[in-house]
Amino acid sequence: MRASDAIRQYFDSAADQLDLSESMRRLLLTAKREVQVQIPIERDSGELTTFIGYRVQHNDSRGPFKGGLRYHPHVDLDEVRALASLMTWKTAVVDIPYGGAKGGVAVDPATLSTRELERVTRRFVDAIHDLFGPDVDIPAPDMGTTADMMAWIMNQYGKYHGFAPACVTGKPVEYHGLPGRDEATGRGVGSLTLKLLSRLGRKIPGTRIAIQGFGNVGSHTARFLRDAECRIVAVSDFAGGFHRESGLDVHDLLRHAQANAGRLAGFTGGDPLTNAELLALDCDVLIPAALGGVLTGANATTVRAPIIVEAANAPVEPEADQVFDARGIVVAPDILVNAGGVTASWFEWVQNRQHYQWGLNRVRQELDRILGTAFEETWQLASSRKVSLRTAAYMVGVGRVARATVLGGIA
Ligand code: NAD
Repeated sequence: MRASDAIRQYFDSAADQLDLSESMRRLLLTAKREVQVQIPIERDSGELTTFIGYRVQHNDSRGPFKGGLRYHPHVDLDEVRALASLMTWKTAVVDIPYGGAKGGVAVDPATLSTRELERVTRRFVDAIHDLFGPDVDIPAPDMGTTADMMAWIMNQYGKYHGFAPACVTGKPVEYHGLPGRDEATGRGVGSLTLKLLSRLGRKIPGTRIAIQGFGNVGSHTARFLRDAECRIVAVSDFAGGFHRESGLDVHDLLRHAQANAGRLAGFTGGDPLTNAELLALDCDVLIPAALGGVLTGANATTVRAPIIVEAANAPVEPEADQVFDARGIVVAPDILVNAGGVTASWFEWVQNRQHYQWGLNRVRQELDRILGTAFEETWQLASSRKVSLRTAAYMVGVGRVARATVLGGIA
């Protein structure tokens, strides 16, 4: 299923509940602007290679467009379009003053040298610099992109427009970044998992957690939940993972990944397992924190976890969602669960504009407050309207964007 079709189905369930008119649905589903650019670079070998870059600016009725940049070989316009709309609902669920956007380059960053990646990033900025900026559209890291790349973006943007650190977020802390931005998405996933467990009346210590993906989000989620005395029984990356019923040593995993370019292969503190086995593992909470579309109609019946927490964007396809609903499996939706990253990005943007820096404790406190409020609003709405957490989160997000559209006026 195409990513945009999946998100459309989730949108429709919420729009039905909100009784939105057809004309408002069409307006909210259409992107304001979609851009495709060519990115020709000279390789280190002297050869010419041309990549394709995208930026979709979905909606800015609540504030400037906001969303990450993804470097992955499968990036295409449909995926970027879908992820841009997710950002619109996500920033609205946590009620921060942004709209939604997404961008990407169809490239496998592992096949390029650092200098080549810098050239791709700077050429991409050359192609779109007049379409983004602190009050217009603010990119950030996503899969395959790093804080260093955000620094290159700020620097290249500054060549055209002058000093403007708020033109991009997720920058290195020592280059106008935010202490705690790095951990924010994983911390948010972890803290909302704990809130959900409490709301479901389950005890937290000893909870068995399986996490697919051990990049930025997966690793920080693992660390946070281990610190809360949960048992991380399995983790994986693109090549497979490791399982240990008594709990993996998260410190050892982090050390191993750090020493091996982020990879888990060769870890000796657990039994190897495949990604398919991880998704079907007997555990209490399953956290997909890698790619979208990993839980489908084909494998949903194999899932044994009673709770799924969507740390990745769009990991559960609608067919799988229906199976989980019918089986009583609780799914905490991406637009709420992984909103910690964009919330911390907002803090970074606010500070860049004030030329001031918060400490880590304040970042964590504000993050927990904003995510906690969004979780409670979603939980209450789901209970009162007897809908899933996903439909409730979309109702909160889509409802806010629809109201802003009306308040701002359309004529
Ligand atoms: P990352 O690039 O740091 O890590 C991705 C991880 O997924 C790596 O461990 C990689 O090996 C693994 N992976 C890749 N392909 C896989 C496959 N086929 N099967 C299993 N594992 C695979 O990315 P990230 O920043 O941690 O992002 C992970 C997910 O979270 C993405 O869906 C992203 O859109 C979403 N997300 C990230 C942030 C953020 O702040 N980083 C915010 C919101 C949402």
